[in-house]
Amino acid sequence: MTLAHKTTATVLVLCTLIAFTPAASAAKPQTRNRAEIPADVRWDFSPIYPNWQAWEAGMVEIEAKMEAFAKLKGSLAQGPAAVLRAYQGYDEIGKLQYLVYRYPQLQRDTDTRDQAVAARFQRVGAVFAKFDTATSWFTPELLKVPQATMEKWIADTPALSPYRFTILDNYRQQKHVLDEAGERLLSLASQFNRTPQATYQELSTSDIKFPSITLADGKEVTLSPGNYSALLESNPNQADRARAAAAHIGTYGATANTYAAIYNSLAQRDWFMAQARNFPTTLDAALDGNNIPRPVVETLVETTRAGTAPLQRYLKLKKKLLGLQEFHLYDNFVPVFRSDKTYPYEQARDAVLASVAPLGADYVAKYRRFVAGGRVDVYENEGKKSGAYSAGVYGVGPYLLLNHNDTLDSLFTLAHEGGHAMHTVLSYETQPFVTADYTIFVAEVASTTNERFLLEHLLKQTSDPKERFLLLQHSVQEIVNTFYTQVMFADFELQAHRRVEKGEPVTTEVLNTIYADLLKAYYGDAVTVDEFYKFTWSRIPHFFNTPYYVFQYATCFASSAQLFNAMNTGPQAERQAATERYLTLLKSGGNDHPMAQLKKAGVDLTQRATVQAVVEQMDALVTRMQAEAARVR
Ligand SMILES: [Zn+2]
Repeated sequence: MTLAHKTTATVLVLCTLIAFTPAASAAKPQTRNRAEIPADVRWDFSPIYPNWQAWEAGMVEIEAKMEAFAKLKGSLAQGPAAVLRAYQGYDEIGKLQYLVYRYPQLQRDTDTRDQAVAARFQRVGAVFAKFDTATSWFTPELLKVPQATMEKWIADTPALSPYRFTILDNYRQQKHVLDEAGERLLSLASQFNRTPQATYQELSTSDIKFPSITLADGKEVTLSPGNYSALLESNPNQADRARAAAAHIGTYGATANTYAAIYNSLAQRDWFMAQARNFPTTLDAALDGNNIPRPVVETLVETTRAGTAPLQRYLKLKKKLLGLQEFHLYDNFVPVFRSDKTYPYEQARDAVLASVAPLGADYVAKYRRFVAGGRVDVYENEGKKSGAYSAGVYGVGPYLLLNHNDTLDSLFTLAHEGGHAMHTVLSYETQPFVTADYTIFVAEVASTTNERFLLEHLLKQTSDPKERFLLLQHSVQEIVNTFYTQVMFADFELQAHRRVEKGEPVTTEVLNTIYADLLKAYYGDAVTVDEFYKFTWSRIPHFFNTPYYVFQYATCFASSAQLFNAMNTGPQAERQAATERYLTLLKSGGNDHPMAQLKKAGVDLTQRATVQAVVEQMDALVTRMQAEAARVR
């Protein structure tokens, strides 16, 4: 264990999944040349560094500070002053890390073709890696000081109090740290532990050959992931969609035995590591970092499985509105209604600002300042990274990347990423550096809550049933994607890992059966599940890259649903109190374990009712959709 790596952009990973907008259409302005896009809708990097010379000086400075930090080795046992000196030294390096990392990273993302910027960015990676190795002594040395002694040092030294949570969390995790020989042995396996992921990457991207099919209109299409999802969204011919799905998923099915062998090796690795570190299950091992009790995931899975009725009702409604005899999984992406309504950025920004008025004047004022110019990179340009994200720079604030294309999706993406950015704003201005970063476990609460505010705001603005239907459908589809689907994925991971823990084989047949049974459990008779969908597990990168990760989308969503209800129902005084608790959550950064932070805000994820709130929200939204659809006809 080394000190936490502050600049790993974990939030970014989440957002690419949720907010990725395929097939960007014409953006305004009508140029893809970055230089021709107005400066106020492009990033201004000068608050980070005025120029590259200043960045170079920062790189020199950080190396010097790292060397000075390394000299503190062996000093921690001297007493509280020595511990304080080390933590403050680490803070200084951490703050600099943000600056030297983000300056090239953000610029690279505005033009990924720029090799000079890419090369500078790589230099940052090399310096960080060196630091990780050079600081590996820190935690073991800290833990040689007995916990009672350390607690006394903290109590007697007011300047150490901001570090209390971080320091004591090291002791909490100590029981899973082995002796020096054991840690060395495990560290020797770290390269090789990445083998399943690396093999999956090669098989699913480098070696995979996607087939071409001829569509009903005679056009030939190669079923790469991008073409495939575009086809499912836009092709009105069900037979075309059916053949595309069979061919695309069948490509993975053709090498399913290899995928299963990779998955088995990954689950075996997880079980090996869990046992080596004295965890009773792989799930316990995965949850320990954030101190999340195992029943949180188990309750999530059980409650969601029991709450699939609204999901099935939604799919049946779509089937009816689309006029299909049979509704297949590949039919779920075809829009029921098409709309040519556009949401230009200025309008989108105003709508998002107006929607969060219930969070109070202070929140709105800070949000308005953030979007005033220089911090939001709005439009697509040549070479710019796709998707959307919010990235923080401690001491400077967040930067937000968009590819706004005037669609309803891009309006909600702004609300989502704006929620992350405001979380960063409030956390940075409230928390000292050491606890300023929030975990993924809390991050998606901020973003999904703002999406919900936007939905309710937009519904108030229009009485057009078609527009209202599309708004509601957008939100329902988000619950399908970020809640139901992710819980189903978590369920799959749990079942497969449990088999390994019991010493039972994990084969293609086993994985196919788990997946097919899950599809049946979730979709019931609302969907005709084609045989080939049993191979779907092999095309989910999260299963192979980050096991036991996806459930966090769902717990965030559940937390957000409950917080939103508390802020918007009941007597005024209670709503006000709930809003204050919510704002306190946003301001609390990473100053406690995420479950504890959420509990202070009024959310208890160990309770079934918290998860049930999403099921009920889904049910209410589908009922509203149904009513609007009846008005369109
Ligand atoms: Zn997000």
